[in-house]
Amino acid sequence: MKSLLVANWKMNPPTFVEAKKLFEVTKKVADLAKNVSIVVVPPTIFLRELRTSYRGKRLAFGIQNAHAEPKGSFTGETSMVQAKNAGATYVIIGHAERRAMGEINDDTRKKVAAALSFSLLPILCIGETTRTHEGEYLDVVKNQLKIGLADVLVAKLPRVTIAYEPVWAIGADVAMSPHDMHGMAIFIRKTLVELYGEKGMTVKILYGGAIDGTNASDMLMHGDVAGLLVGRASADPEKLTALVRSIKNL
Ligand code: PEP
Repeated sequence: MKSLLVANWKMNPPTFVEAKKLFEVTKKVADLAKNVSIVVVPPTIFLRELRTSYRGKRLAFGIQNAHAEPKGSFTGETSMVQAKNAGATYVIIGHAERRAMGEINDDTRKKVAAALSFSLLPILCIGETTRTHEGEYLDVVKNQLKIGLADVLVAKLPRVTIAYEPVWAIGADVAMSPHDMHGMAIFIRKTLVELYGEKGMTVKILYGGAIDGTNASDMLMHGDVAGLLVGRASADPEKLTALVRSIKNL
C-alpha cells in the first residue's frame, strides 16, 4: 500500500519562479519513491499553471481551502468547482490555521459535503489545541469528526481522508511520538466505527505536525497511519528531498 504525502506549501513560496523550482524538485523526488503518492497543495494562485505544466501521472494536486458554495458573492474566496476546474483532486478542510482564523466545525461539515458533491476528495483536518491529563482533547477530536462528517453518507466515506494534526505539533520543533499517534489512530477509527460501522475502518488516517526527514519513516512504520500531511518540509527543496529519501524504501 502506497503512503500518501500531502505537501501543504501554505502561503509559500513568494514568487511563481520559486514555485516552479520547488515543483521541479517535487517531481524529481516523486520519481525516486514509487511507494509514495504525493499531493501538491500550492497556493491557489499557482495551482492551474503548475497543473497544466505537468504531464506525468505520479503527482496529484490539491487546494488548501475552498468555499462550500459553488459560486456567488464571496469576495476573496475560491469555490470547490473552481478548484476542480484548475486541476485539484483534493481539498484540505479545517486546517488548524483556518480554524485559528475563525473556521468552526459546522463550516467543515458544509465544506466536506460540498467537496464530495463536486467530486473532490476532502482531507478533513482535526486535532486538539492543547492536551491535559484529563483527556478532554479526546472529546474535542470526536466532536470535530462527528460534526465534520455529519453530512457524509456511508457510501462516500471511502473518499474522505482524515488528517490528525495536533495543533501543538504544527510548526513546532518536535512531532508527536509514533506511539501516541498509534493510540490516536485507534481512537479515530473507533469513533468512525461508532458513526459508520465496519466501513469506518476503511478511512485513511494521516498524521501532520513537525514531520521531516528525521522522523517520517518512524511515523509511517509505527504510527498506524496511511501517510503524512507536511507543511514546512514540503516547501523546502532540501528538506523535501531528505524526507522522501528517508521513506523511499519502506
Ligand atoms: C501543516 O501545516 O499542516 C503542518 C503539519 O505543518 P508543519 O509540517 O510545518 O508542522
